[in-house]
Amino acid sequence: MIESFGELYYADSYRRHFTARVLAVRTRQGRTELRLDQTCFYPEGGGQPGDRGSLQEFPETNPAEGCRQPDTVPAGAADPTEQSARPAAGSRCQVIDTRLDDQGVIWHRLDQPVTWEPGTRVTGELDWLRRYDLMQQHSAEHLVSGITHRRFGYDNVGFHIGQDLTTLDFNGPLTPADLRWIEDQANQAVWQNLPYEISYPARELLPSISYRSKLELDGAVRLVTVPGYDCCACCGTQVRRTGELGLIKLCSAESYKGGMRLTLLAGRRALQEMQRWQQQLDLAAASLSRPRTDLAAGISQLQQELRQQRTQVRISEDRWLEHCLAGLPAHYAAKPGLILFQDFTSQQLKEAARRLLALTARQPDLALLLLPAPDRTGPDDGQAAALPFYLLQPATASLNLWEQLKAGYPVQGGGRAPLYSGRLTISPRQLRRLADQLQLQSIGLP
Ligand SMILES: [Zn+2]
Repeated sequence: MIESFGELYYADSYRRHFTARVLAVRTRQGRTELRLDQTCFYPEGGGQPGDRGSLQEFPETNPAEGCRQPDTVPAGAADPTEQSARPAAGSRCQVIDTRLDDQGVIWHRLDQPVTWEPGTRVTGELDWLRRYDLMQQHSAEHLVSGITHRRFGYDNVGFHIGQDLTTLDFNGPLTPADLRWIEDQANQAVWQNLPYEISYPARELLPSISYRSKLELDGAVRLVTVPGYDCCACCGTQVRRTGELGLIKLCSAESYKGGMRLTLLAGRRALQEMQRWQQQLDLAAASLSRPRTDLAAGISQLQQELRQQRTQVRISEDRWLEHCLAGLPAHYAAKPGLILFQDFTSQQLKEAARRLLALTARQPDLALLLLPAPDRTGPDDGQAAALPFYLLQPATASLNLWEQLKAGYPVQGGGRAPLYSGRLTISPRQLRRLADQLQLQSIGLP
């Protein structure tokens, strides 16, 4: 609820230092919060996060700075501490967030408790690097929203400057070609180095002005205009000219609530992200021995080679399995069989079971248990493990290995003749004993 636009950050969004008096101190959510009689700290609002920085107690009589009643300094006027940023005596704390309450009062949230009473004089200093970054993102959002609104008629229905990315939501779809056009237009506005003009038109004039606004506005309206591109009611802070944005990059776009959510970067963030992309592209280009502009073709070729090699491996494994299975004893009637498969994946084990089932389809008397081979490096007295198993046993089999297994070990799973499967919990020692009782074969991949 900002009505007067009298704060220092509206008078000059580039002002980083100020003096003020503490008006009130309170505690919220375990944190000390201060209300000041004036401030450069922008409170969270309109998609722009609240400012951070520091506050320091400023003695009433300071030989270095002289004594001045802050109340006599009009908002936005030059401040004796503005240029010097000289540290004053007195305790210092960090402002970790700035917010407005329901009554429109700005509260500075501190990193630690302070002993300052109402009336204490303080100097404040913005975390300027962060604020300027936020101003670049916010100013870029105006351009992109204005351009999109003018060309496609869409409204910006959501805006958030995050730690890494800025998101913009529009209430209509945009194609990749549309996005490229918007990005081109926004950067053309940057190259023209146009001003962000701030105005406070009288209410009676507002109906005759075409401007974007998310809300029905009461009280004074602050309009931010970029000539030829946008006019928007705004309570945030902007850069002075579009040239300060350097680069506007639309990084991604996805369908969102019937419209589109775009991610945007501008200024320092855009440069840093492009540098990260370049670093990754250079690494990829070096490993593929191709220029950066030809990576997609290189990756496509690699994928094709990989697919061919996987096919070759699969064919080789199939042939090996076929060879091994063909060498197994023809009959397991007299004694049930146990086949241990070394280094088989569960998928390969399943495939082996499928093939063995086909190979033994004509054997009416069969009991054949398939298990993965235990880890050879593990201790013999190791813990029991639940191993995937397949059991081939036709209904005509004279031995019922399935019932014996269920009686002797924890078994999960089931099935019916001629195939049972599941998990068999068995220790290495138990498995060795079982192998002694059965006709053992081992199969390993080449
Ligand atoms: Zn704005």
